[in-house]
Amino acid sequence: MKLIIDWLRRIMLSETDVMADYRNRIMLPVGIIALLLMTIFAVNNLLQGRFDVGLLVLFAQAVILIVVLALRRGKPSPVPFGVVMVLMLVAVLFAVVRQGILGALWGYPVVLICYFMLPRRLALPFSLAVIVTLTLFVAHWVSFVLSTRVFATMLLTVIMINIVLNVMGELQEALMRQALTDPLTGAFNRRRMEEILEHMVEQGKRRAPNNAMLMIDIDHFKAINDRLGHEAGDQVLRRIVAVINGRKRVVDMLFRIGGEEFIILLLDTNTADAFAVADDLRLRIERATMLHDQKVTVSVGICAQHAGRPAEDWIRCADTALYRAKRNGRNRVEIGESD
Ligand code: GH3
Ligand code: MG
Ligand code: MG
Repeated sequence: MKLIIDWLRRIMLSETDVMADYRNRIMLPVGIIALLLMTIFAVNNLLQGRFDVGLLVLFAQAVILIVVLALRRGKPSPVPFGVVMVLMLVAVLFAVVRQGILGALWGYPVVLICYFMLPRRLALPFSLAVIVTLTLFVAHWVSFVLSTRVFATMLLTVIMINIVLNVMGELQEALMRQALTDPLTGAFNRRRMEEILEHMVEQGKRRAPNNAMLMIDIDHFKAINDRLGHEAGDQVLRRIVAVINGRKRVVDMLFRIGGEEFIILLLDTNTADAFAVADDLRLRIERATMLHDQKVTVSVGICAQHAGRPAEDWIRCADTALYRAKRNGRNRVEIGESD
């Protein structure tokens, strides 16, 4: 029971909607195929004298045609997908009344299509509602025995699509994590930093920014590698990241931008506070046990964000301050010139 509740909660609260980016791309071919298939059924129903069913199919085709034409032009659908789904459900219920169990067969593609058309948290309740109404209709208009089979097989169909989408969601999250983080330390990578900086620069145009960048470089790191080997160097990198993660606030972001260089973005932090954070980090790293026989230190350059200044200039300012910290003897913090 707990397993099922956890599972439902994950679906309803999940931030990632794997289908979101593909919705329109999927709906265009599905819509075109549906139009072609439905033409056969519309013609057949009209020829057989079932004018009500024939006209209903034609009406559904008209709605789908409007959606397909809009999607083909790259525009959003003028008819909300939720409305299309309700129309499909009505059509299936109508088919059950007119044709019995043969009409109920359409329920299977409908419960699947709703996972392509609707956001996940809507698709689940909607598909369950389809199962319940369809079961009741089959029980009333066809037979109770068949309705239990319809209920069980449709429920299985819905469970299977949810399992597939959960697996896809987990794969997507893992891929995104891999694409944006550095595998050695778990810090964000340079690519992620470029995205965040771009966003911050845009925001800074609208509201006076109050953010600071710390650029951190390990002192004499090459000597550590040369003396103790690359493995020991990697261990130092991981331990330094652990020290930083133990100190920084949740909103601060840490990026590994090169071999032994890191950037920390401190949000809502003025230069004086950024200096206090940087110096505290520097001290913590100096005091931590990084290697069994030697201290490891870092040098830090600080630079505040300025409205309208491009990201490269902000980075260059922090880099210049870092260079000064190196020149002035290492294991120290310097503030960028432009402040
Ligand atoms: P400085 O105090 O001036 O910064 O001296 P440094 O030796 O730290 O600077 P330098 O840029 O000359 O050396 C950086 C070294 O970092 C060179 C390279 O071998 C090492 N390095 C880069 N990436 C990695 C990595 O992923 N793992 C390890 N173990 N070493 C790396
Ligand atoms: Mg370096
Ligand atoms: Mg270095």
